[in-house]
Amino acid sequence: MSEIDGMGTERATCWLAPNPSAMTLDGTNTWVIGEPGAEEVVVIDPGPKDGVHLRRVVDGITAQGRRVGLVLLTHGHPDHSAGAVKFAGLAAAAAAAAPGAPGGTRAGTVPVRALDPRHRLGDEGLAEGDVVVTGGVELQVMETPGHSDDSLTFYLPADRAVLTGDTVLGYGTTVLEGGLGDYMSSLDRLRKFSEDVEAVTILPGHGPKLDDPIGALDHYINHRRERLAQVEAAVAAGARTAKEVVARVYADVDKSLWPAAEWSVQSQLDYLNERRP
Ligand SMILES: [Zn+2]
Repeated sequence: MSEIDGMGTERATCWLAPNPSAMTLDGTNTWVIGEPGAEEVVVIDPGPKDGVHLRRVVDGITAQGRRVGLVLLTHGHPDHSAGAVKFAGLAAAAAAAAPGAPGGTRAGTVPVRALDPRHRLGDEGLAEGDVVVTGGVELQVMETPGHSDDSLTFYLPADRAVLTGDTVLGYGTTVLEGGLGDYMSSLDRLRKFSEDVEAVTILPGHGPKLDDPIGALDHYINHRRERLAQVEAAVAAGARTAKEVVARVYADVDKSLWPAAEWSVQSQLDYLNERRP
């Protein structure tokens, strides 16, 4: 935990949520992004609705003499988003109570922006091509569907850091709920992007940061291609349903992950079927 909690770059710091599991690895990484010396920070993925974690992040930001200007979500899965509204409330209250805060009747609010309108707080959405600037720090928004249809990746150009949410994890592989075709396109795009901007690190939604973005993305892309070849082989050998394919292809994987793997396999089967002439 200590290796992950507190890791980051000059402008990004990870606050690890205490929700470890097979799916969330060490827990959810809540990212606090701020320009050095700036009063306002952006928080990406407040995490699950865990009051102790949410308060720890708000208190940590407050202790630095800073306040939360904006909350962004990489996607709407509850381990990233369920605490967002509560977090925004705590952050707004902390900002209002801070010494020197503008008093009066106008209680501040902290917006939550996400691709999926169901996870927003306030009027502003978040989509491909958006450039978010808060407290002088810039984040560029890319839509990278695959893990989920609403998955976003944020690029922090000042640190050449790519915040991938669950599209790329610190280790292991991500479960796909969206289409494999979408996911492969997202990985290819992130690889090309990382090469173009000479990205130096990936800051994932779970697990440790990855200081070789191209290597990490190649590993992901190759892994998907290998799995796809295995699924093709399993089908050729007679497996018909996702469940049957999982039993063959994921024989080396902990059985607790099999139900989740079925989602991935189903999208692999769909992908292969779409491509069949
Ligand atoms: Zn997650």
